[in-house]
Amino acid sequence: MSLRYPFQQPPGAGQTVSITPDIKWLRSPLPLSLNHINCYLLRDQNAAGEQGWCILDTGMNGDAAKQQWLDVIESQLEGDPITRVIVTHHHPDHVGLAGWLCDTLQVPLYTTETEYFYTRAFNTAPPQQPYWEVQRYFDQTGISETDRKALLANQDYNHLVSAVPAAFHRLKDGDRIQIGCQQWEAITTRGHAPEHLCLYCREQNILISGDQVLPKITSNVSVSPSQPADNPLQDWIEAHATMAARVPDSVLVLPAHQLPFYGLHARLQAVVDHHQERLSALLGLLQEPKTAQQITRELFNKPLDSFQNFLAVGEVVAHLHYLLQQGRAKRELVGHMYYYEPS
Ligand SMILES: [Zn+2]
Repeated sequence: MSLRYPFQQPPGAGQTVSITPDIKWLRSPLPLSLNHINCYLLRDQNAAGEQGWCILDTGMNGDAAKQQWLDVIESQLEGDPITRVIVTHHHPDHVGLAGWLCDTLQVPLYTTETEYFYTRAFNTAPPQQPYWEVQRYFDQTGISETDRKALLANQDYNHLVSAVPAAFHRLKDGDRIQIGCQQWEAITTRGHAPEHLCLYCREQNILISGDQVLPKITSNVSVSPSQPADNPLQDWIEAHATMAARVPDSVLVLPAHQLPFYGLHARLQAVVDHHQERLSALLGLLQEPKTAQQITRELFNKPLDSFQNFLAVGEVVAHLHYLLQQGRAKRELVGHMYYYEPS
């Protein structure tokens, strides 16, 4: 079943599109091949009962993105103030301007506890030398010395994320949060991020999905050096079952990238099918034992820069850990490197 897109054109720079009278959609520029993130404004009231707008996801830290917020607040909100900022997860395109917005506008931040503290943890000065755990992850996956150096030279979370607010309001799974006249249910999931927040409004039949559900691209699901034994693909597949069980297929999905769409359940199934196909393709490459880096080269079969390669290897390791957990693959440590084969 194909998806339906009720809004064919995204908002232009500095503009908003009204999804409903209570929800505005804007796009913040990203200096990446994925060149935008969708942010949303929800009609709200502040603690004093005054009309205003709640920001949902903020964009990446940068002058153009900041200027766009100032323009939007000045020209698109009929003079109403911002009431608060909600962030779905700690990735720079979502949380990047949260600190700046909260600080400049003196409004509170709402997010999940894990995502807040991930942001705080990454939002500190990087170490002079990479941690031994990071080196060990590189050793075990087979990432080359050249790629390691290029990657570590470009650790720039701090540049992409403005200083995180000193306080936050915790949202947790199942919470019902009142935003203006509407009640939204918090649904949290793991796999792409550790406690990713989605908001579902039953009355309006709208889901703000962050990176949990995107209409055409699939979100990155990676093992990272900070949790080298993790099985995020298991979490990710379970998250799709959770979304299908808790949110009806008829919902309008407002994703963090690309266009709003109808067809949630078909999209959830398509993403799970995609990962099952990748698992089969990956197993098919293991006629002889291979490292995660070797598998990545064969599976992606195109030039990747050091960061793309890091993400791709992380995805391959996520799929390998899923296969290990299921007993469909095994691995052996040879020297410093893990070699994988079917079991
Ligand atoms: Zn993300």
